[in-house]
Amino acid sequence: MLEGIRDAVRKFLGGTTSYDVAVDEFIKDLQKALISSDVQVKLVFSLTNKIKERLKKESPPTSLERREWFIKIVYDELSSLFGGDKEPEVNPGSLPYVIMLVGVQGTGKTTTAGKLAYFYKKRGYKVALVGADVYRPAALEQLMQLGKQIGVPVYGEPGEKDAVGIAKRGVEKLLSEKYELIIVDTAGRHGYGEEAKLLEEMKEIYESVKPNEVILVIDASLGQKAYDLAKRFHEASKVGSIIITKMDGTAKGGGALSAVVATGAPIKFIGTGEKIDELEVFNPKRFVARVLGMGDVEAIIEKIKAVEDYEGIQKKMQEVTSGKSRLTLRDLYKQIIAMRKMGPLSKILQLMPGINLMGDIPEDQIKVGEKKMQRWLAIMNSMTYEELDNPSLLDKQRMKRIAMGSGTEVEEVKELIEHFNTIQRTLKVLKRRKKDVERLLGQL
Ligand code: GDP
Ligand code: MG
Repeated sequence: MLEGIRDAVRKFLGGTTSYDVAVDEFIKDLQKALISSDVQVKLVFSLTNKIKERLKKESPPTSLERREWFIKIVYDELSSLFGGDKEPEVNPGSLPYVIMLVGVQGTGKTTTAGKLAYFYKKRGYKVALVGADVYRPAALEQLMQLGKQIGVPVYGEPGEKDAVGIAKRGVEKLLSEKYELIIVDTAGRHGYGEEAKLLEEMKEIYESVKPNEVILVIDASLGQKAYDLAKRFHEASKVGSIIITKMDGTAKGGGALSAVVATGAPIKFIGTGEKIDELEVFNPKRFVARVLGMGDVEAIIEKIKAVEDYEGIQKKMQEVTSGKSRLTLRDLYKQIIAMRKMGPLSKILQLMPGINLMGDIPEDQIKVGEKKMQRWLAIMNSMTYEELDNPSLLDKQRMKRIAMGSGTEVEEVKELIEHFNTIQRTLKVLKRRKKDVERLLGQL
């Protein structure tokens, strides 16, 4: 199960064996976890080969431990299996649009039907529900209540036993009433050992209703069984997308990957609770972070994000020194935020190539305490964009207003501006030196 991956991540990050041995071991663990989760062997190897290739080609940024960097690569590659950086498109491609929900009993189909209706209603669609579960006594009642709660009409035929007929008549009626988005809830069980009958019914409903999209609803705890199950539903009615429910529980949705692989369908939503609004658009990266072990991976990702932010600032600094762009307080703001995520400025400066040029700036001039940073951020939050972009606007009057707005003293505002001016002066020196160096190089 994918759950095993989390232990592997733990073991890898905390391990004492050499890096190369640990990487080999991790890759084996990953393959084992994926294969035992019924992910196709071919897919597993293409994934791990990609990871190995990147390990060879790329090198870790100076600010990351090698092991952290490795986990980041695993995280990237796993995420791309689930759809990469993008969140799925959830708006219907055409209107009217009919959605049919399928899945075994108890996974949360009816609840999800209500959640989806609410989700699309909020987005402005004219939504209606059809209750076609004729096997569970209270199924229609449950859907009716949900419909009432969110103000969405529900089509049902109490007492009627022909699920295919109900679905067909319901969709036809609602279409004629100009509903734009119609969600059909179906049954999940026919009685013990009667699965074939259930799948046959799915197929019949599918063929008579001709939905625009079949959504397979699966429970996060499904694990290994997900592959077979998804495959069988997919054969009965072509699954277009997947919703994973109960992601708020202890299970981490290991079966999800198997379901994706079995159907080739993307995950669109996840259910995160019993309430009507506890439905989230699926975000591949967040999901994979959960699979890998949120705490460990999140910390690494935070760090990477800070590095990226910092690289952005560094680029800006280079633009400033080469005269392409002007330094503003907005840059300083970003710099402070990045610094707070990454640790002391002096440490960050060591990571910056070419920063030795700044060697003659006394350490305490660039060292800013955490408390001061917080006050400065408050001050900058009280400035207008105009002021951030053009600090020379800051006269006594404005400084007073800013100090008041941020709960600080005018002295502190002045101090911030002074700090900003120091950086600017430094950059000017850098710029001159750069020119000197260029001139020197030119003479060679
Ligand atoms: P169905 O048989 O597939 O229609 O499943 P139901 O919609 O009746 O749901 C079965 C149970 O799962 C109910 O108690 C729901 O409240 C619960 N449930 C559904 N989705 C979620 C979810 O995302 N999180 C949690 N914690 N419970 C859920
Ligand atoms: Mg139900």
